[in-house]
This record gives sequence, C-alpha cells and structure tokens, in this order.
Amino acid sequence: MEFSEKALVLRVGRFREIDAWVRLFSPSRGAYTAFAFGGCRSRRRFCGCLDVFNLVQFKVKTGRGYHTLLEGRLLNGHGRLRAEPARLGMAVNCLKFFEAMEVGASGARAAHALLVETLETLAAEPAPPSPFPLYFRARLAGDQGFLPSLAACHGCGRPGSEFSGAVFHVEEGRLLCPACPRPARGTVVRIGRDVVELVSDVCRARPAQWAGFAPSPGAAGEFSRLLDRFVTYHLGLTWEHGTFVRN
Ligand SMILES: [Zn+2]
Repeated sequence: MEFSEKALVLRVGRFREIDAWVRLFSPSRGAYTAFAFGGCRSRRRFCGCLDVFNLVQFKVKTGRGYHTLLEGRLLNGHGRLRAEPARLGMAVNCLKFFEAMEVGASGARAAHALLVETLETLAAEPAPPSPFPLYFRARLAGDQGFLPSLAACHGCGRPGSEFSGAVFHVEEGRLLCPACPRPARGTVVRIGRDVVELVSDVCRARPAQWAGFAPSPGAAGEFSRLLDRFVTYHLGLTWEHGTFVRN
C-alpha cells in the first residue's frame, strides 16, 4: 500500500553507506520510523528532505511490517534555525521534549500543528525570548491533557484573578489559594498571580504570540520551577546531558 502525507523529520540516521532511517511525526499517524533506501545519495527523490526540522510531503510504501520512503518534497526546511546556535538550541530543546512525550495517535494532529507552528515561529522571530522552550512544554502538556487548568483554586473554586500568593501542589496537581489548607505532605511551589496568568496565556495563545509575553525575572523563575517539578513528577522526564530522559 502507498500513501502520501506531510510529516516532520525528528531524527535521521545512516546505515549501509547510502541508506537512511528517518524518525517522522505526521498528523494522522504520530511518530513512526521509515527507511529511505538510497536516501543519502538520491538528489532526485529526496533533495534536501532528510534533515531534522524539515516538514516534508513524503510518498510512503507500507508492507512487511515496515515503512519505506519512496520520495519527498520539501515544504519547509526552517533554515534559519540552523544558522544561529541560540535559536537552534531552543528548537532542539522543544524537539527533544516533543519526542520524550511520546504523543499517541489520538493527540497527534494537535501536537503536530503545535510543533510546526513553534518551529516556524522560532525561525521567523527576530529575537525569540529565552523561556520559549518552557512555553512549548507547558502548552504541549496542556494540549495533551497533562497540565491542570490554573483558572481557579482547586480547593474553593475562587477565580485565579482574585487572589495572589497561591501554591501549586505538585504531586496532586492542584492550585491552592492562600485561604485553603495545604496538604501536610508533598512538594508545594509558590506561584504568584502573574505566573497563574502566564500559564493560562501560554496555553491559550498561539506560539507566534509568545514573544509578546514579558514576565519579570521572578515570574519567569517561578514558571520554570513549576514546569520542572511538574514535568519531572507527572511525565517522569528530566533534562540531562542535552536530552530528556525518563526517570
Ligand atoms: Zn481556595
């Protein structure tokens, strides 16, 4: 069987001199690996396609339990990402987290759209802000149903806009206003009202709007700590030696 679809290249490896394996993510299938026989040599079939961050229209053949790429047409190479180390570092960070999340087929369409839009923004933005990969993590976790809404206190239901000095209970994934009792056990992270609003804004806005957010250094720090603890505990992921590893 053959099909044609657009997919984003997550990783590429070489084997047997001229052949390549490619880890792809498509809106309909999620992540899968395919072989590009002769892919390292064929300019006609794969011209400029087999590189990380590329969005490619691939023609794919299935059979015998594996996928074979027949040809590709480059749709967007996100070229500027590779030209500047800071930009590249942020893009790699987003991509590593994306892979580590192991998004299933049901969430693939939303995840693919978010990743493509994030890479387009990172390539186009004059100066992407340093918390950009954190925004991506929060948004992907939120889209996939892992990050609880911080719109209101989970104890009494008071809207988040009405109180400051809340805490987030990491293990229970609950936001608690100052009036609500804190659990005796577990990890609590203090988060100000501006961080509660920042999380909501990031999860609502498109990546192209993220550069417009300008959290204070204190708020950016709280946001970072919140995400770190949450991702480590609930997704079992920590950043080590340039990649996310499962605990
Ligand atoms: Zn409360």
